[in-house]
Amino acid sequence: MKIGVLAVQGAFIEHEHIIEKIGHEVIEIRQRKDLEGIDGIILPGGESTVQGQLLRKLDMLDTIKSLIADGLPTLATCAGLILLAGRIDNDDSIHIGTLPVTVKRNAYGRQLGSFAITAPMKGFDEFPMTFIRAPYISSIKDNVDVLAAVDDRIVAVQYNNQIGLAFHPELSGDTRIHEYFISLCEK
Ligand code: GLN
Repeated sequence: MKIGVLAVQGAFIEHEHIIEKIGHEVIEIRQRKDLEGIDGIILPGGESTVQGQLLRKLDMLDTIKSLIADGLPTLATCAGLILLAGRIDNDDSIHIGTLPVTVKRNAYGRQLGSFAITAPMKGFDEFPMTFIRAPYISSIKDNVDVLAAVDDRIVAVQYNNQIGLAFHPELSGDTRIHEYFISLCEK
Protein backbone atom coordinates (compact mmCIF):
# COMPACT_ATOMS: atom_id res chain seq x y z
CA MET A 1 0.00 0.00 0.00
CA LYS A 2 1.06 3.60 -0.60
CA ILE A 3 0.14 5.70 2.44
CA GLY A 4 0.13 9.49 2.43
CA VAL A 5 1.09 11.14 5.71
CA LEU A 6 0.11 14.79 5.98
CA ALA A 7 3.45 16.47 6.63
CA VAL A 8 2.72 20.20 6.90
CA GLN A 9 3.14 20.39 10.69
CA GLY A 10 3.24 18.16 13.76
CA ALA A 11 4.10 14.56 14.62
CA PHE A 12 4.22 12.97 11.15
CA ILE A 13 7.66 11.28 11.27
CA GLU A 14 6.59 8.69 13.87
CA HIS A 15 3.66 7.57 11.70
CA GLU A 16 5.99 7.26 8.71
CA HIS A 17 8.34 5.02 10.69
CA ILE A 18 5.51 2.71 11.73
CA ILE A 19 4.09 2.42 8.19
CA GLU A 20 7.57 1.57 6.87
CA LYS A 21 8.17 -0.86 9.73
CA ILE A 22 5.03 -2.81 8.84
CA GLY A 23 6.16 -2.98 5.22
CA HIS A 24 4.33 -0.25 3.31
CA GLU A 25 5.32 2.75 1.24
CA VAL A 26 5.02 6.28 2.65
CA ILE A 27 4.62 9.54 0.80
CA GLU A 28 4.75 12.86 2.65
CA ILE A 29 1.82 15.07 1.70
CA ARG A 30 3.13 18.61 1.43
CA GLN A 31 1.27 19.82 -1.65
CA ARG A 32 -1.86 18.93 -3.54
CA LYS A 33 -0.18 16.78 -6.18
CA ASP A 34 1.20 14.47 -3.46
CA LEU A 35 -2.37 13.25 -2.92
CA GLU A 36 -2.46 11.48 -6.29
CA GLY A 37 -2.51 7.70 -6.16
CA ILE A 38 -2.47 7.15 -2.40
CA ASP A 39 -4.35 4.20 -0.87
CA GLY A 40 -4.91 5.85 2.52
CA ILE A 41 -4.08 9.03 4.45
CA ILE A 42 -2.82 9.71 7.97
CA LEU A 43 -3.61 13.05 9.63
CA PRO A 44 -1.10 13.37 12.50
CA GLY A 45 -1.18 15.22 15.80
CA GLY A 46 0.22 18.71 16.17
CA GLU A 47 -1.66 21.99 16.26
CA SER A 48 -4.99 21.83 14.47
CA THR A 49 -5.36 25.59 13.93
CA VAL A 50 -1.96 25.76 12.23
CA GLN A 51 -2.62 22.64 10.19
CA GLY A 52 -6.04 23.95 9.11
CA GLN A 53 -4.51 27.28 8.04
CA LEU A 54 -1.76 25.54 6.08
CA LEU A 55 -4.24 23.23 4.31
CA ARG A 56 -6.15 26.31 3.15
CA LYS A 57 -3.03 28.23 2.18
CA LEU A 58 -1.68 25.28 0.19
CA ASP A 59 -5.11 24.84 -1.43
CA MET A 60 -5.41 21.22 -0.29
CA LEU A 61 -8.41 21.34 2.03
CA ASP A 62 -11.15 20.75 -0.57
CA THR A 63 -9.26 17.95 -2.33
CA ILE A 64 -8.60 16.13 0.96
CA LYS A 65 -12.22 16.60 1.95
CA SER A 66 -13.56 15.08 -1.28
CA LEU A 67 -11.09 12.17 -1.20
CA ILE A 68 -12.18 11.27 2.34
CA ALA A 69 -15.87 11.80 1.58
CA ASP A 70 -15.42 9.46 -1.42
CA GLY A 71 -14.05 6.71 0.84
CA LEU A 72 -10.26 7.16 1.16
CA PRO A 73 -9.24 5.28 4.34
CA THR A 74 -8.17 7.86 6.93
CA LEU A 75 -6.37 7.52 10.27
CA ALA A 76 -6.57 10.76 12.25
CA THR A 77 -4.85 11.28 15.58
CA CYS A 78 -5.32 14.14 18.03
CA ALA A 79 -5.05 17.38 15.98
CA GLY A 80 -5.93 15.22 12.96
CA LEU A 81 -9.14 14.19 14.71
CA ILE A 82 -9.93 17.87 15.30
CA LEU A 83 -9.41 18.54 11.57
CA LEU A 84 -11.81 15.73 10.67
CA ALA A 85 -14.56 16.62 13.16
CA GLY A 86 -17.82 18.07 11.90
CA ARG A 87 -17.98 20.33 14.94
CA ILE A 88 -15.56 21.72 17.53
CA ASP A 89 -17.16 22.62 20.88
CA ASN A 90 -14.84 25.40 21.89
CA ASP A 91 -13.91 26.76 18.46
CA ASP A 92 -15.98 28.12 15.57
CA SER A 93 -13.82 26.56 12.88
CA ILE A 94 -14.57 23.46 10.87
CA HIS A 95 -11.73 22.15 8.77
CA ILE A 96 -12.21 18.89 6.85
CA GLY A 97 -15.47 18.17 8.68
CA THR A 98 -16.22 14.70 7.26
CA LEU A 99 -16.49 12.85 10.62
CA PRO A 100 -19.92 13.37 12.24
CA VAL A 101 -18.72 13.97 15.79
CA THR A 102 -18.18 16.96 18.05
CA VAL A 103 -14.78 17.32 19.70
CA LYS A 104 -13.59 19.45 22.56
CA ARG A 105 -10.04 20.77 22.13
CA ASN A 106 -7.47 20.79 24.94
CA ALA A 107 -10.14 19.03 26.91
CA TYR A 108 -8.15 17.73 29.85
CA GLY A 109 -6.95 21.04 31.26
CA ARG A 110 -3.40 22.05 32.09
CA GLN A 111 -2.57 19.59 34.81
CA LEU A 112 -3.67 16.58 32.82
CA GLY A 113 -2.18 17.99 29.64
CA SER A 114 -0.21 14.83 29.01
CA PHE A 115 -0.73 11.32 30.32
CA ALA A 116 -0.41 7.72 29.24
CA ILE A 117 -2.64 4.78 30.12
CA THR A 118 -3.55 1.39 28.78
CA ALA A 119 -7.29 1.02 28.23
CA PRO A 120 -9.73 -1.39 26.58
CA MET A 121 -10.32 -0.79 22.89
CA LYS A 122 -12.77 -2.57 20.61
CA GLY A 123 -10.95 -5.04 18.39
CA PHE A 124 -7.65 -4.76 20.28
CA ASP A 125 -8.36 -6.05 23.79
CA GLU A 126 -6.33 -3.22 25.35
CA PHE A 127 -4.22 -0.49 23.75
CA PRO A 128 -1.53 1.82 25.20
CA MET A 129 -2.73 5.41 24.77
CA THR A 130 -0.61 8.56 25.02
CA PHE A 131 -2.57 11.79 25.36
CA ILE A 132 -0.88 15.15 24.68
CA ARG A 133 -3.03 18.26 25.13
CA ALA A 134 -5.66 16.00 23.72
CA PRO A 135 -9.22 16.54 22.62
CA TYR A 136 -12.04 14.17 23.48
CA ILE A 137 -15.19 13.41 21.55
CA SER A 138 -18.12 15.04 23.33
CA SER A 139 -20.87 13.69 21.07
CA ILE A 140 -21.35 11.42 18.09
CA LYS A 141 -24.03 10.96 15.46
CA ASP A 142 -25.68 7.66 14.54
CA ASN A 143 -23.53 5.09 12.80
CA VAL A 144 -20.34 6.31 14.44
CA ASP A 145 -18.79 3.32 16.15
CA VAL A 146 -17.18 4.00 19.54
CA LEU A 147 -13.90 2.06 19.80
CA ALA A 148 -12.71 3.35 23.18
CA ALA A 149 -13.72 5.54 26.09
CA VAL A 150 -11.60 6.59 29.06
CA ASP A 151 -13.38 7.86 32.19
CA ASP A 152 -16.64 7.97 30.22
CA ARG A 153 -15.11 10.19 27.57
CA ILE A 154 -14.98 8.89 24.01
CA VAL A 155 -11.40 8.82 22.74
CA ALA A 156 -11.59 6.56 19.65
CA VAL A 157 -14.21 6.15 16.93
CA GLN A 158 -14.66 4.69 13.49
CA TYR A 159 -17.11 5.92 10.87
CA ASN A 160 -16.86 3.82 7.71
CA ASN A 161 -13.44 4.68 6.23
CA GLN A 162 -12.48 7.17 8.97
CA ILE A 163 -10.74 6.29 12.24
CA GLY A 164 -10.46 9.15 14.75
CA LEU A 165 -8.27 8.89 17.85
CA ALA A 166 -7.78 11.47 20.61
CA PHE A 167 -4.47 9.82 21.55
CA HIS A 168 -1.16 9.13 19.78
CA PRO A 169 -0.87 5.43 18.83
CA GLU A 170 2.40 6.12 17.00
CA LEU A 171 4.21 6.85 20.28
CA SER A 172 3.44 3.55 21.99
CA GLY A 173 5.48 1.16 19.85
CA ASP A 174 2.29 -0.88 19.32
CA THR A 175 1.65 -1.20 15.58
CA ARG A 176 -1.79 -2.85 15.71
CA ILE A 177 -3.88 0.24 14.96
CA HIS A 178 -1.72 1.04 11.92
CA GLU A 179 -2.05 -2.58 10.77
CA TYR A 180 -5.82 -2.36 11.13
CA PHE A 181 -5.78 0.89 9.13
CA ILE A 182 -3.76 -0.84 6.38
CA SER A 183 -6.41 -3.60 6.28
CA LEU A 184 -9.00 -0.89 5.45
CA CYS A 185 -6.72 0.43 2.70
CA GLU A 186 -6.42 -3.07 1.20
CA LYS A 187 -10.20 -3.49 0.83
N1 GLN B 1 -4.01 20.68 21.35
C1 GLN B 1 -3.83 20.41 19.95
C2 GLN B 1 -4.90 21.09 19.11
O1 GLN B 1 -5.82 21.61 19.62
C3 GLN B 1 -3.83 18.93 19.67
C4 GLN B 1 -2.67 18.27 20.38
C5 GLN B 1 -2.10 17.09 19.70
O2 GLN B 1 -2.27 16.87 18.49
N2 GLN B 1 -1.31 16.33 20.43
O3 GLN B 1 -4.80 21.10 17.92
